[in-house]
Amino acid sequence: DQLTGAQIRSAFLDFFRSRDHVIVPSSTVVPKDDQSLLFVNAGMNQFKDILLGKRQPEHTRIANSQKCIRAGGKHNDLDEVGHDGRHHTYFEMLGNWSFADYFQKDACRLAYDLLVDVYGLPPDRLLMTYFGGDPELGLGPDFECREIWRQIGVPEAHIIPLGMEDNFWAMGEEGPCGPCTEIHYSPSGKSEDMLELWNLVFMQYNRKRQGLLEPLKDKHVDTGMGLERVVAVLQGKKSNYDTDLFTPVLSQIQQLTKAPFYEAKWGQEDHQGLNTSYRIIADHIRMLTVALADGVVPADRGAPFVLRKVLRRSVIILQNKFNCDPLALVDLVDTVVESLGEAYPEVASGQEAIKKTISEEVLKYKRTLEKGNKIFSDVWKKLENKMVLPADRMFSLYMHFGVPEELIIMMAKNRNMTCDLKGFYVLLDNEREKSRKARKG
Ligand code: ATP
Ligand code: MG
Ligand code: MG
Ligand code: MG
Repeated sequence: DQLTGAQIRSAFLDFFRSRDHVIVPSSTVVPKDDQSLLFVNAGMNQFKDILLGKRQPEHTRIANSQKCIRAGGKHNDLDEVGHDGRHHTYFEMLGNWSFADYFQKDACRLAYDLLVDVYGLPPDRLLMTYFGGDPELGLGPDFECREIWRQIGVPEAHIIPLGMEDNFWAMGEEGPCGPCTEIHYSPSGKSEDMLELWNLVFMQYNRKRQGLLEPLKDKHVDTGMGLERVVAVLQGKKSNYDTDLFTPVLSQIQQLTKAPFYEAKWGQEDHQGLNTSYRIIADHIRMLTVALADGVVPADRGAPFVLRKVLRRSVIILQNKFNCDPLALVDLVDTVVESLGEAYPEVASGQEAIKKTISEEVLKYKRTLEKGNKIFSDVWKKLENKMVLPADRMFSLYMHFGVPEELIIMMAKNRNMTCDLKGFYVLLDNEREKSRKARKG
């Protein structure tokens, strides 16, 4: 019958194992020796030095399932989360690589065979995009790639050229990059409703800075397919949240919050943004669990700050949207561990420590919120029904009482007030300037 998410992941790895690839473990979501990234954002991150020719690979063909987080830096999907059914902060990227081994032809063939022969997708629902060239960079269209898809039997109308934005992949502002071809699934077989599934990158350059591409010594293949997306397609769902990777955590949210049951159908009316809130919590608890398992500790800068932000956002949603004790987050960890613990043992072994950190961080933030609320109420009483919170009051709440900016805005909103943000930022700039001078002096 229908394959589970876990079976779909295994089938990917088994397929590439049977085609002479060595299966390697996912790296942590914390990039190793790479200042250019907040979190690992693609399967290739841990192989960057091999692609650049700085390190010899142990095997020339490998595949894996990599834990990725896109919540900061060049690839940032944080604001998308919950509003569409296909972008998460944390997701898994299934990938295969050839290091100076096979190139375009075999890469396309392998991907096509897996999707059609193993996963059983109807060929007429697949659309391929390829790099259409970029005159400014002096790069021509990738006609070789187009020809390969033709020979595989993809109809002309399903082979579409696109520009730099979609079909030239780069890890960041600098680093390995190259033209790519992407495989999309469309329920109607038309390009209007196509969903990007799999990106096959033909690594050929090292980008030194904007506009400067230095050819690599060898050509490599680097691919990435979102597990949650392919699972949605194979399970016949319109949204990743409707797959078995998310439904257990969504129903637990329902049990904990007693909020109207999450409508498992995509595209239904989102009553008071409740469905969006369900999805955000389900997304965020996976991200928090995985990042904490990999040793990220909430703090005020860099990746640890993104983690803290994601946790605080979850707390606010649980309190304000669901009217529920945000410590519920701690219980959700168990369900995430059940779903991911087998594929990623560190998630299972970290379970208790993860729950402890979340619990401490939630309690700390709850106290901040309570304190902030009390101080805000005192200020508010003196304002005598003003519609706008004056900048000096906002600044004082922020600077002298340590109430976070988002929280002030939210509390004001709850009392039908807006904030003089412009004035607030001026005061903030002045303050920063003052302390900068003081440091210099
Ligand atoms: P999109 O255009 O949908 O944002 P992308 O082009 O940014 O995707 P790639 O960098 O090409 O994505 O990554 C390879 C694959 O990883 C994508 O084809 C998709 O299946 C998956 N993917 C990318 N971003 C996300 C995300 N935020 N959540 C879930 N899956 C993702
Ligand atoms: Mg994207
Ligand atoms: Mg894309
Ligand atoms: Mg892409």
